[in-house]
Amino acid sequence: METDTITAISTPIGEGAIAIVRLSGPEAISITTEIFKGNDLKQVASHTINYGKIIDPQSNEIAEEVMVSVMRAPKTFTREDVVEINCHGGMVAVNRVLEIILSKGARLAEPGEFTKRAFLHGRIDLSQAEAVMDLIRAKTDKAMSVALKQMDGRLSTLIERLRQDLLETVAHVEVNIDYPEYDDVEEMSHEMMRKKTKEVHAEIEKLLQVAKQGKILREGLATAIIGRPNVGKSSLMNTLVQENKAIVTEIPGTTRDIIEEYVNVRGVPLRLVDTAGIRETEDIVEKIGVERSRQVLKESDLILFVLNYNDDLTEEDEKLFTAIQGLNYIVIINKTDLEQKLDLERVKVLAEDKPVVTTSLIEEEGVDELENAISKTFFEGEIDTGDLTYVSNVRHIQLLKQASRALEDAIDALKLEMPLDIVQIDVTRTWELLGEIIGDTASDSLIDQLFSQFCLGK
Ligand code: GDP
Ligand code: ZN
Repeated sequence: METDTITAISTPIGEGAIAIVRLSGPEAISITTEIFKGNDLKQVASHTINYGKIIDPQSNEIAEEVMVSVMRAPKTFTREDVVEINCHGGMVAVNRVLEIILSKGARLAEPGEFTKRAFLHGRIDLSQAEAVMDLIRAKTDKAMSVALKQMDGRLSTLIERLRQDLLETVAHVEVNIDYPEYDDVEEMSHEMMRKKTKEVHAEIEKLLQVAKQGKILREGLATAIIGRPNVGKSSLMNTLVQENKAIVTEIPGTTRDIIEEYVNVRGVPLRLVDTAGIRETEDIVEKIGVERSRQVLKESDLILFVLNYNDDLTEEDEKLFTAIQGLNYIVIINKTDLEQKLDLERVKVLAEDKPVVTTSLIEEEGVDELENAISKTFFEGEIDTGDLTYVSNVRHIQLLKQASRALEDAIDALKLEMPLDIVQIDVTRTWELLGEIIGDTASDSLIDQLFSQFCLGK
């Protein structure tokens, strides 16, 4: 296991007045002691905060005024000695402190390496480690609380229970087969297997059902704003961005040529995507036809379709209605400050049962109603993240789907009265797949791959 001391800036670059340099490893305290003027850090109690100064060893000058937290193993995040140096002087100062620490023999941490150590030292399991990553990327408060719950081991606990159930069933059946003292043992074992596989299958399906909402919370609703030129699409975009704090403008790992704007509307994270001109399709139907437009628009989770109150409904508007039929959309009739020319009755017919909201973006009218409609469309009011265990991680969802399929194979085999040792192959496979979620049967390369996705310093 790793024995060197790693360090990194563990607060987001450029954010906030306070920046933290974190060290973890056997030399964490001694390296800090060498460059610190204040209490003798080697003598201070664990989990104390110590005021002092970082001295540049080359010039002997004060590099930064700091608060240093000293946390001794094993009651730390990584289960190693951990030191956190709180700097107050912004990015230049914090970088200088980092350089001084590096010059004293610490190694710059790889992305996610702190969390990786926590995992390798058994401090957290894999799904908790991934939750840390989700937390770093969390875009809204709700996404944050989902990530926190997972970190609490909520998902892990459930998965462990399901695995235990499967394991016990397999063991039980095994014993029954090995000691067939009664004639109806085979019958009993089949019955037990049927019951358990169905129970576990139902629980996995429940997890998958809420996963879609979890994904939305984590990644945001892919949202397209469509409508004819000049109806107010850009104005709508600006209003949404200005009214609701834009959350993140750049996600690590996404390609640079995709522009994404995140806004948080009543806890619904909207991802206004600009791929393939989805974000603002001025004349998409004109250009590529109704069918192809529909294919493109299908990619979005939500469509905001803007119409002009001050204009007749045109053929293009009707075509757009056709293109989005059956998809998730909200009709926005904009420019209500101007004279009415639009046939509202006709719009209501075309819009089927979808919400129709009127706005005057220029006078900031109707925006509340629009935001309510957005929130309602997806959560039918408020969703309570307290009751459900969300799975919001793509890898977990894939594994759960595979586990569900393996169990379905087992259930089918039972229906066909197949021998139990055949059925058990599928059950064991399910057990392994669930194990991969919490890192129990995960291979090293999988682990390395996962941790390399973490932001630096976590
Ligand atoms: P887009 O082409 O669909 O993106 O439309 P824009 O957002 O660029 O708006 C076109 C024009 O309509 C601009 O001059 C806006 O200022 C104006 N506009 C947008 N919303 C309203 C509104 O509610 N009322 C009025 N009177 N004008 C608006
Ligand atoms: Zn525009």
